[in-house]
Amino acid sequence: MESIKRNILLNPGPSTTTDTVKLAQVVEDICPREKEFSGLMKSLREDLVKIVHGDSNKYTSVLFCGSGTINIDVCLNSLLPDGKKILVVNNGAYSTRAVEICQYYGLPHIDLRFPVDQRPDLSIVEETLKNNPDIALVHTTHNETGTGILNPIREIGALAHRYGAVFTVDTTSTYAMRPIHIEEDHIDFCMASAQKGLMAFTGLSFIVGNKRIIEQSADYPKRSYYCNLFLQYDFFEKTGEMHFTPPVQTIYATLQALKEYWAEGEEAKWARHTRVFNAINAGLDELGFRQVIKPEWRTGLVSSAIYPDDPNWNFEAVHDYCYERGFTIYPGKISTTNTFRLCALGAIDEKDIQDFFVVFKEALATLGVQTPVIYYT
Ligand SMILES: *Cc1c(COP(=O)(O)O)cnc(C)c1O
Repeated sequence: MESIKRNILLNPGPSTTTDTVKLAQVVEDICPREKEFSGLMKSLREDLVKIVHGDSNKYTSVLFCGSGTINIDVCLNSLLPDGKKILVVNNGAYSTRAVEICQYYGLPHIDLRFPVDQRPDLSIVEETLKNNPDIALVHTTHNETGTGILNPIREIGALAHRYGAVFTVDTTSTYAMRPIHIEEDHIDFCMASAQKGLMAFTGLSFIVGNKRIIEQSADYPKRSYYCNLFLQYDFFEKTGEMHFTPPVQTIYATLQALKEYWAEGEEAKWARHTRVFNAINAGLDELGFRQVIKPEWRTGLVSSAIYPDDPNWNFEAVHDYCYERGFTIYPGKISTTNTFRLCALGAIDEKDIQDFFVVFKEALATLGVQTPVIYYT
């Protein structure tokens, strides 16, 4: 087999994959309703719980065919009892997406906003919970991928539980990278997609969460057919299969990615992402780039750099220069500041980042961007 060109993806997922994961998709044709296939899904579901150190008697995982946003949709529309309210602790684009989901379903909710470069103020979160005893679900984002800020989920989860609410966390951009302990972190439901921390492909998303709460939600209002958590869970429990056609090839790739996850190990993998992240920051610092999030609040996976004021700076041109040479950089996701992002996801290491900065510097030089870069204020 000819080797596959290796691109270094510095966008926030899908991430660079190993060749073994890529090739794991090439399998003999199989009908996913065969017992052989449900056996594969059983081990997959168990592994997804183990990654967040969940006790298999208490936690389960439920798979969906879709991109990561499907998980947010499923959790919010499925886990809200009648007459109750959702509190979204919102300091970024992904929590804003959760608010939009509430709006689309007409779910009663409070959009508790904080600035995108600040951590949520826990005393305001508590005050809100105290003043709104009808809040039954608190949702937030672990790593706001738009900026790379790390939210204090353990503390928010503790508050949610103190006031009797279920805690759902969008861990799409931390799961299988930054270690998560579902119980100690006071998480009832977390979520991710195969193409991010697991370093597999798009099309498979999953929610890891508390079985008892899912079973309880059987009686909650049904607001979606395809995206209902209890229906999908129940079907899995009864048949071992996904309710509707699963993403077969992505599941094979994810199984290979899980083998590689366990072989690398949680700690070593996080250490590698940290090396990559440190190399990204060292490169940005050397060139004088400012970042949106202060160092002590960074998750360690996404760097959000502010566009310099140099008139020759042109993100598109820098992007294209790097892209043509195998490195993908990504625009920001903040409406108030022009930023670009470099992410530490995927099957990459420090050396890839050093190689990237050689190309990135060439791009700046070609455009005539002054380095260290300049800011007027
Ligand atoms: C990537 C990501 C998602 C999912 O986005 P999709 O485009 O639907 O895959 C959700 N939440 C966070 C925090 C993410 O980083």
